[in-house]
Amino acid sequence: MAAPVMPDESGATTGGLPVRGGPRFRWSYAPWVAMAALMAGTIYQLRSQGRLWWCACGQLSLWSGNTWSQHNSQHLVDPYSLTHVLHGMLLCGLFAWLCPRLPFAWRLWLAVSVEAVWEVVENTDIVIQRYRAVTASLDYLGDTVTNSLGDILSFGIGVAIARYLGFWRSLGLFLVTEVVLVMWIRDSLLLNILMLVYPVDAIRAWQMVH
Ligand SMILES: [Zn+2]
Repeated sequence: MAAPVMPDESGATTGGLPVRGGPRFRWSYAPWVAMAALMAGTIYQLRSQGRLWWCACGQLSLWSGNTWSQHNSQHLVDPYSLTHVLHGMLLCGLFAWLCPRLPFAWRLWLAVSVEAVWEVVENTDIVIQRYRAVTASLDYLGDTVTNSLGDILSFGIGVAIARYLGFWRSLGLFLVTEVVLVMWIRDSLLLNILMLVYPVDAIRAWQMVH
């Protein structure tokens, strides 16, 4: 009497082929492994460009509320983190439209890749010099690595919020956040882009008064 054939880890019952979805590696982990690699690469690149780990003041506060102080873009989160939430909402919409059939985890990875490249480019010496020359950011020396990671985290939260809210409610939240930022810090994502691409003297003068 033959013993019942049981599947085993040697692959004997699958002709020596590896069993798909077996215990060794789940493909659902792949986007998160890729995400970790992306973060490691981003940190390495920012450090190579000379960015500091943390604000030169050395205070351990994760939050910095005064955008006109030298602590801005140096701690983990500050009012500008909200502009990165808005980036996340925009790119969530863009990638949902460009590649609707891609699993969400991979779309998130793609979007975070774009944001990470933005952070690296934003913190090259060329862009830092341009910010200082044409915007109100006279003391700006580039973001710290911690702040860039906070920006990317904020971005990921923005992607999640947009996915949860859908298009119209996201659009409403986007516009409300822009208005709140303009009233709070005299800057916003749209103003920031405008002033970088096409500086307006009257807006710069208004931003300098605080
Ligand atoms: Zn500081």
